[in-house]
Amino acid sequence: MTVDDRAPLDVVRELFKAAFGGEPTGVWSAPGRVNLIGEHIDYAGGCVLPFAIDRRTFVAARLHPDPMVRVVSAQRPGEHVAIPYAEVDPRNARREWTDYVAGMLWAFRSTGTDVGGLELAVTSTVPVGAGLSSSAALECAVGAATADISGRPIPPANLARLAQSAENDYVGVPCGLLDQMAACMCRAGHALFFDTASGMMDHIPFDPERHELALLVIDTRASHAHSDGEYARRRETCRAAEKILSLPYLAALSPADLPTALRTLDDDVLRRRVRHVVTENARVHATVEALRDGRLRDVGPLLTASHISLRDDYEVSSPELDLAVDTALGAGALGARLTGGGFGGSVIALVPTNAAGLVVDAVRQRFAERGWASPSVITPRIAEGVRRDA
Ligand code: ADP
Ligand code: MG
Repeated sequence: MTVDDRAPLDVVRELFKAAFGGEPTGVWSAPGRVNLIGEHIDYAGGCVLPFAIDRRTFVAARLHPDPMVRVVSAQRPGEHVAIPYAEVDPRNARREWTDYVAGMLWAFRSTGTDVGGLELAVTSTVPVGAGLSSSAALECAVGAATADISGRPIPPANLARLAQSAENDYVGVPCGLLDQMAACMCRAGHALFFDTASGMMDHIPFDPERHELALLVIDTRASHAHSDGEYARRRETCRAAEKILSLPYLAALSPADLPTALRTLDDDVLRRRVRHVVTENARVHATVEALRDGRLRDVGPLLTASHISLRDDYEVSSPELDLAVDTALGAGALGARLTGGGFGGSVIALVPTNAAGLVVDAVRQRFAERGWASPSVITPRIAEGVRRDA
């Protein structure tokens, strides 16, 4: 718990009191995340390397004898939503933010945990729709609250899988497991190596400050809201390539076998998608090695190569993301790339600490020249995963 976490903790308690009266049984929180590298490969059996940031979603909760789910969010002022617990079902999804909450309760029910009535108040310091995974933070904080409050605690990795199922099957977003696993499993001061094929995880120390580096998160403020169709199409393309190449999952293709595989494929789009998955997976391993060896500066070029691959081969970048990356590199960043699903959202830039100001000014200036909204920039602390706060 840091000083910065105290304010949202007070906010969520006050919100709970105002909406439902009295005190919540407890407060739980889960973080937003930055994926250092390993983008768009969590649904192709690839490896990813996220870390949790010190922006969190807080949920104050209490059981209630009426079989109703009542929920408010500081980010949705004036909305006081009540859903009969019996109607918590994907067929009744409302296509709004409360689906993330109801989806978690539905996922829990599939494990035999029936909460019945529940009152929930939410607040968050994770920017929404910025590619920092406010959705998984919300799911996992609600999930932790649900598990504890019903006296059926579950291991955090299982919580992540339930949250993925809520997002896939209730909200209807076909995401991989990266965001939820990061929200549940990350540790302070570490990036989480997660092999999505085997489920293997490892905590890799990651401390840019010790190397006089800073990792900037530049939110371009260009929303990724309408990217769902493209995301689903990328997934389908990966499935199609897997079939043609007779692979259990696409990232099972080794870099050594890539040239032969590419010759087998007669479609240029398919070829480029496959090349991204295989080279990106290799870059994750190279990044882990660099971190383990304390060669943090060597991570820079890997980030930039990842961006180029996402831009040209996977085609999930946007003019805003490209401008932020190019400008950051021109102003002294060691490497930069889009992070998250792309089409908008955030860029990360690894910069020497003494160049951070220059990089931020340069990006803001170039955005102003285009008449685009000024990016907001954070230098996150590398924080811990889901937890109970009170
Ligand atoms: P990202 O996960 O990158 O922030 P998503 O589109 O996956 O973007 O998820 C954003 C959605 O999650 C929001 O549109 C909203 O429905 C829901 N959400 C996230 N945080 C909150 C919150 N604090 N209060 C209400 N809804 C939230
Ligand atoms: Mg999300």
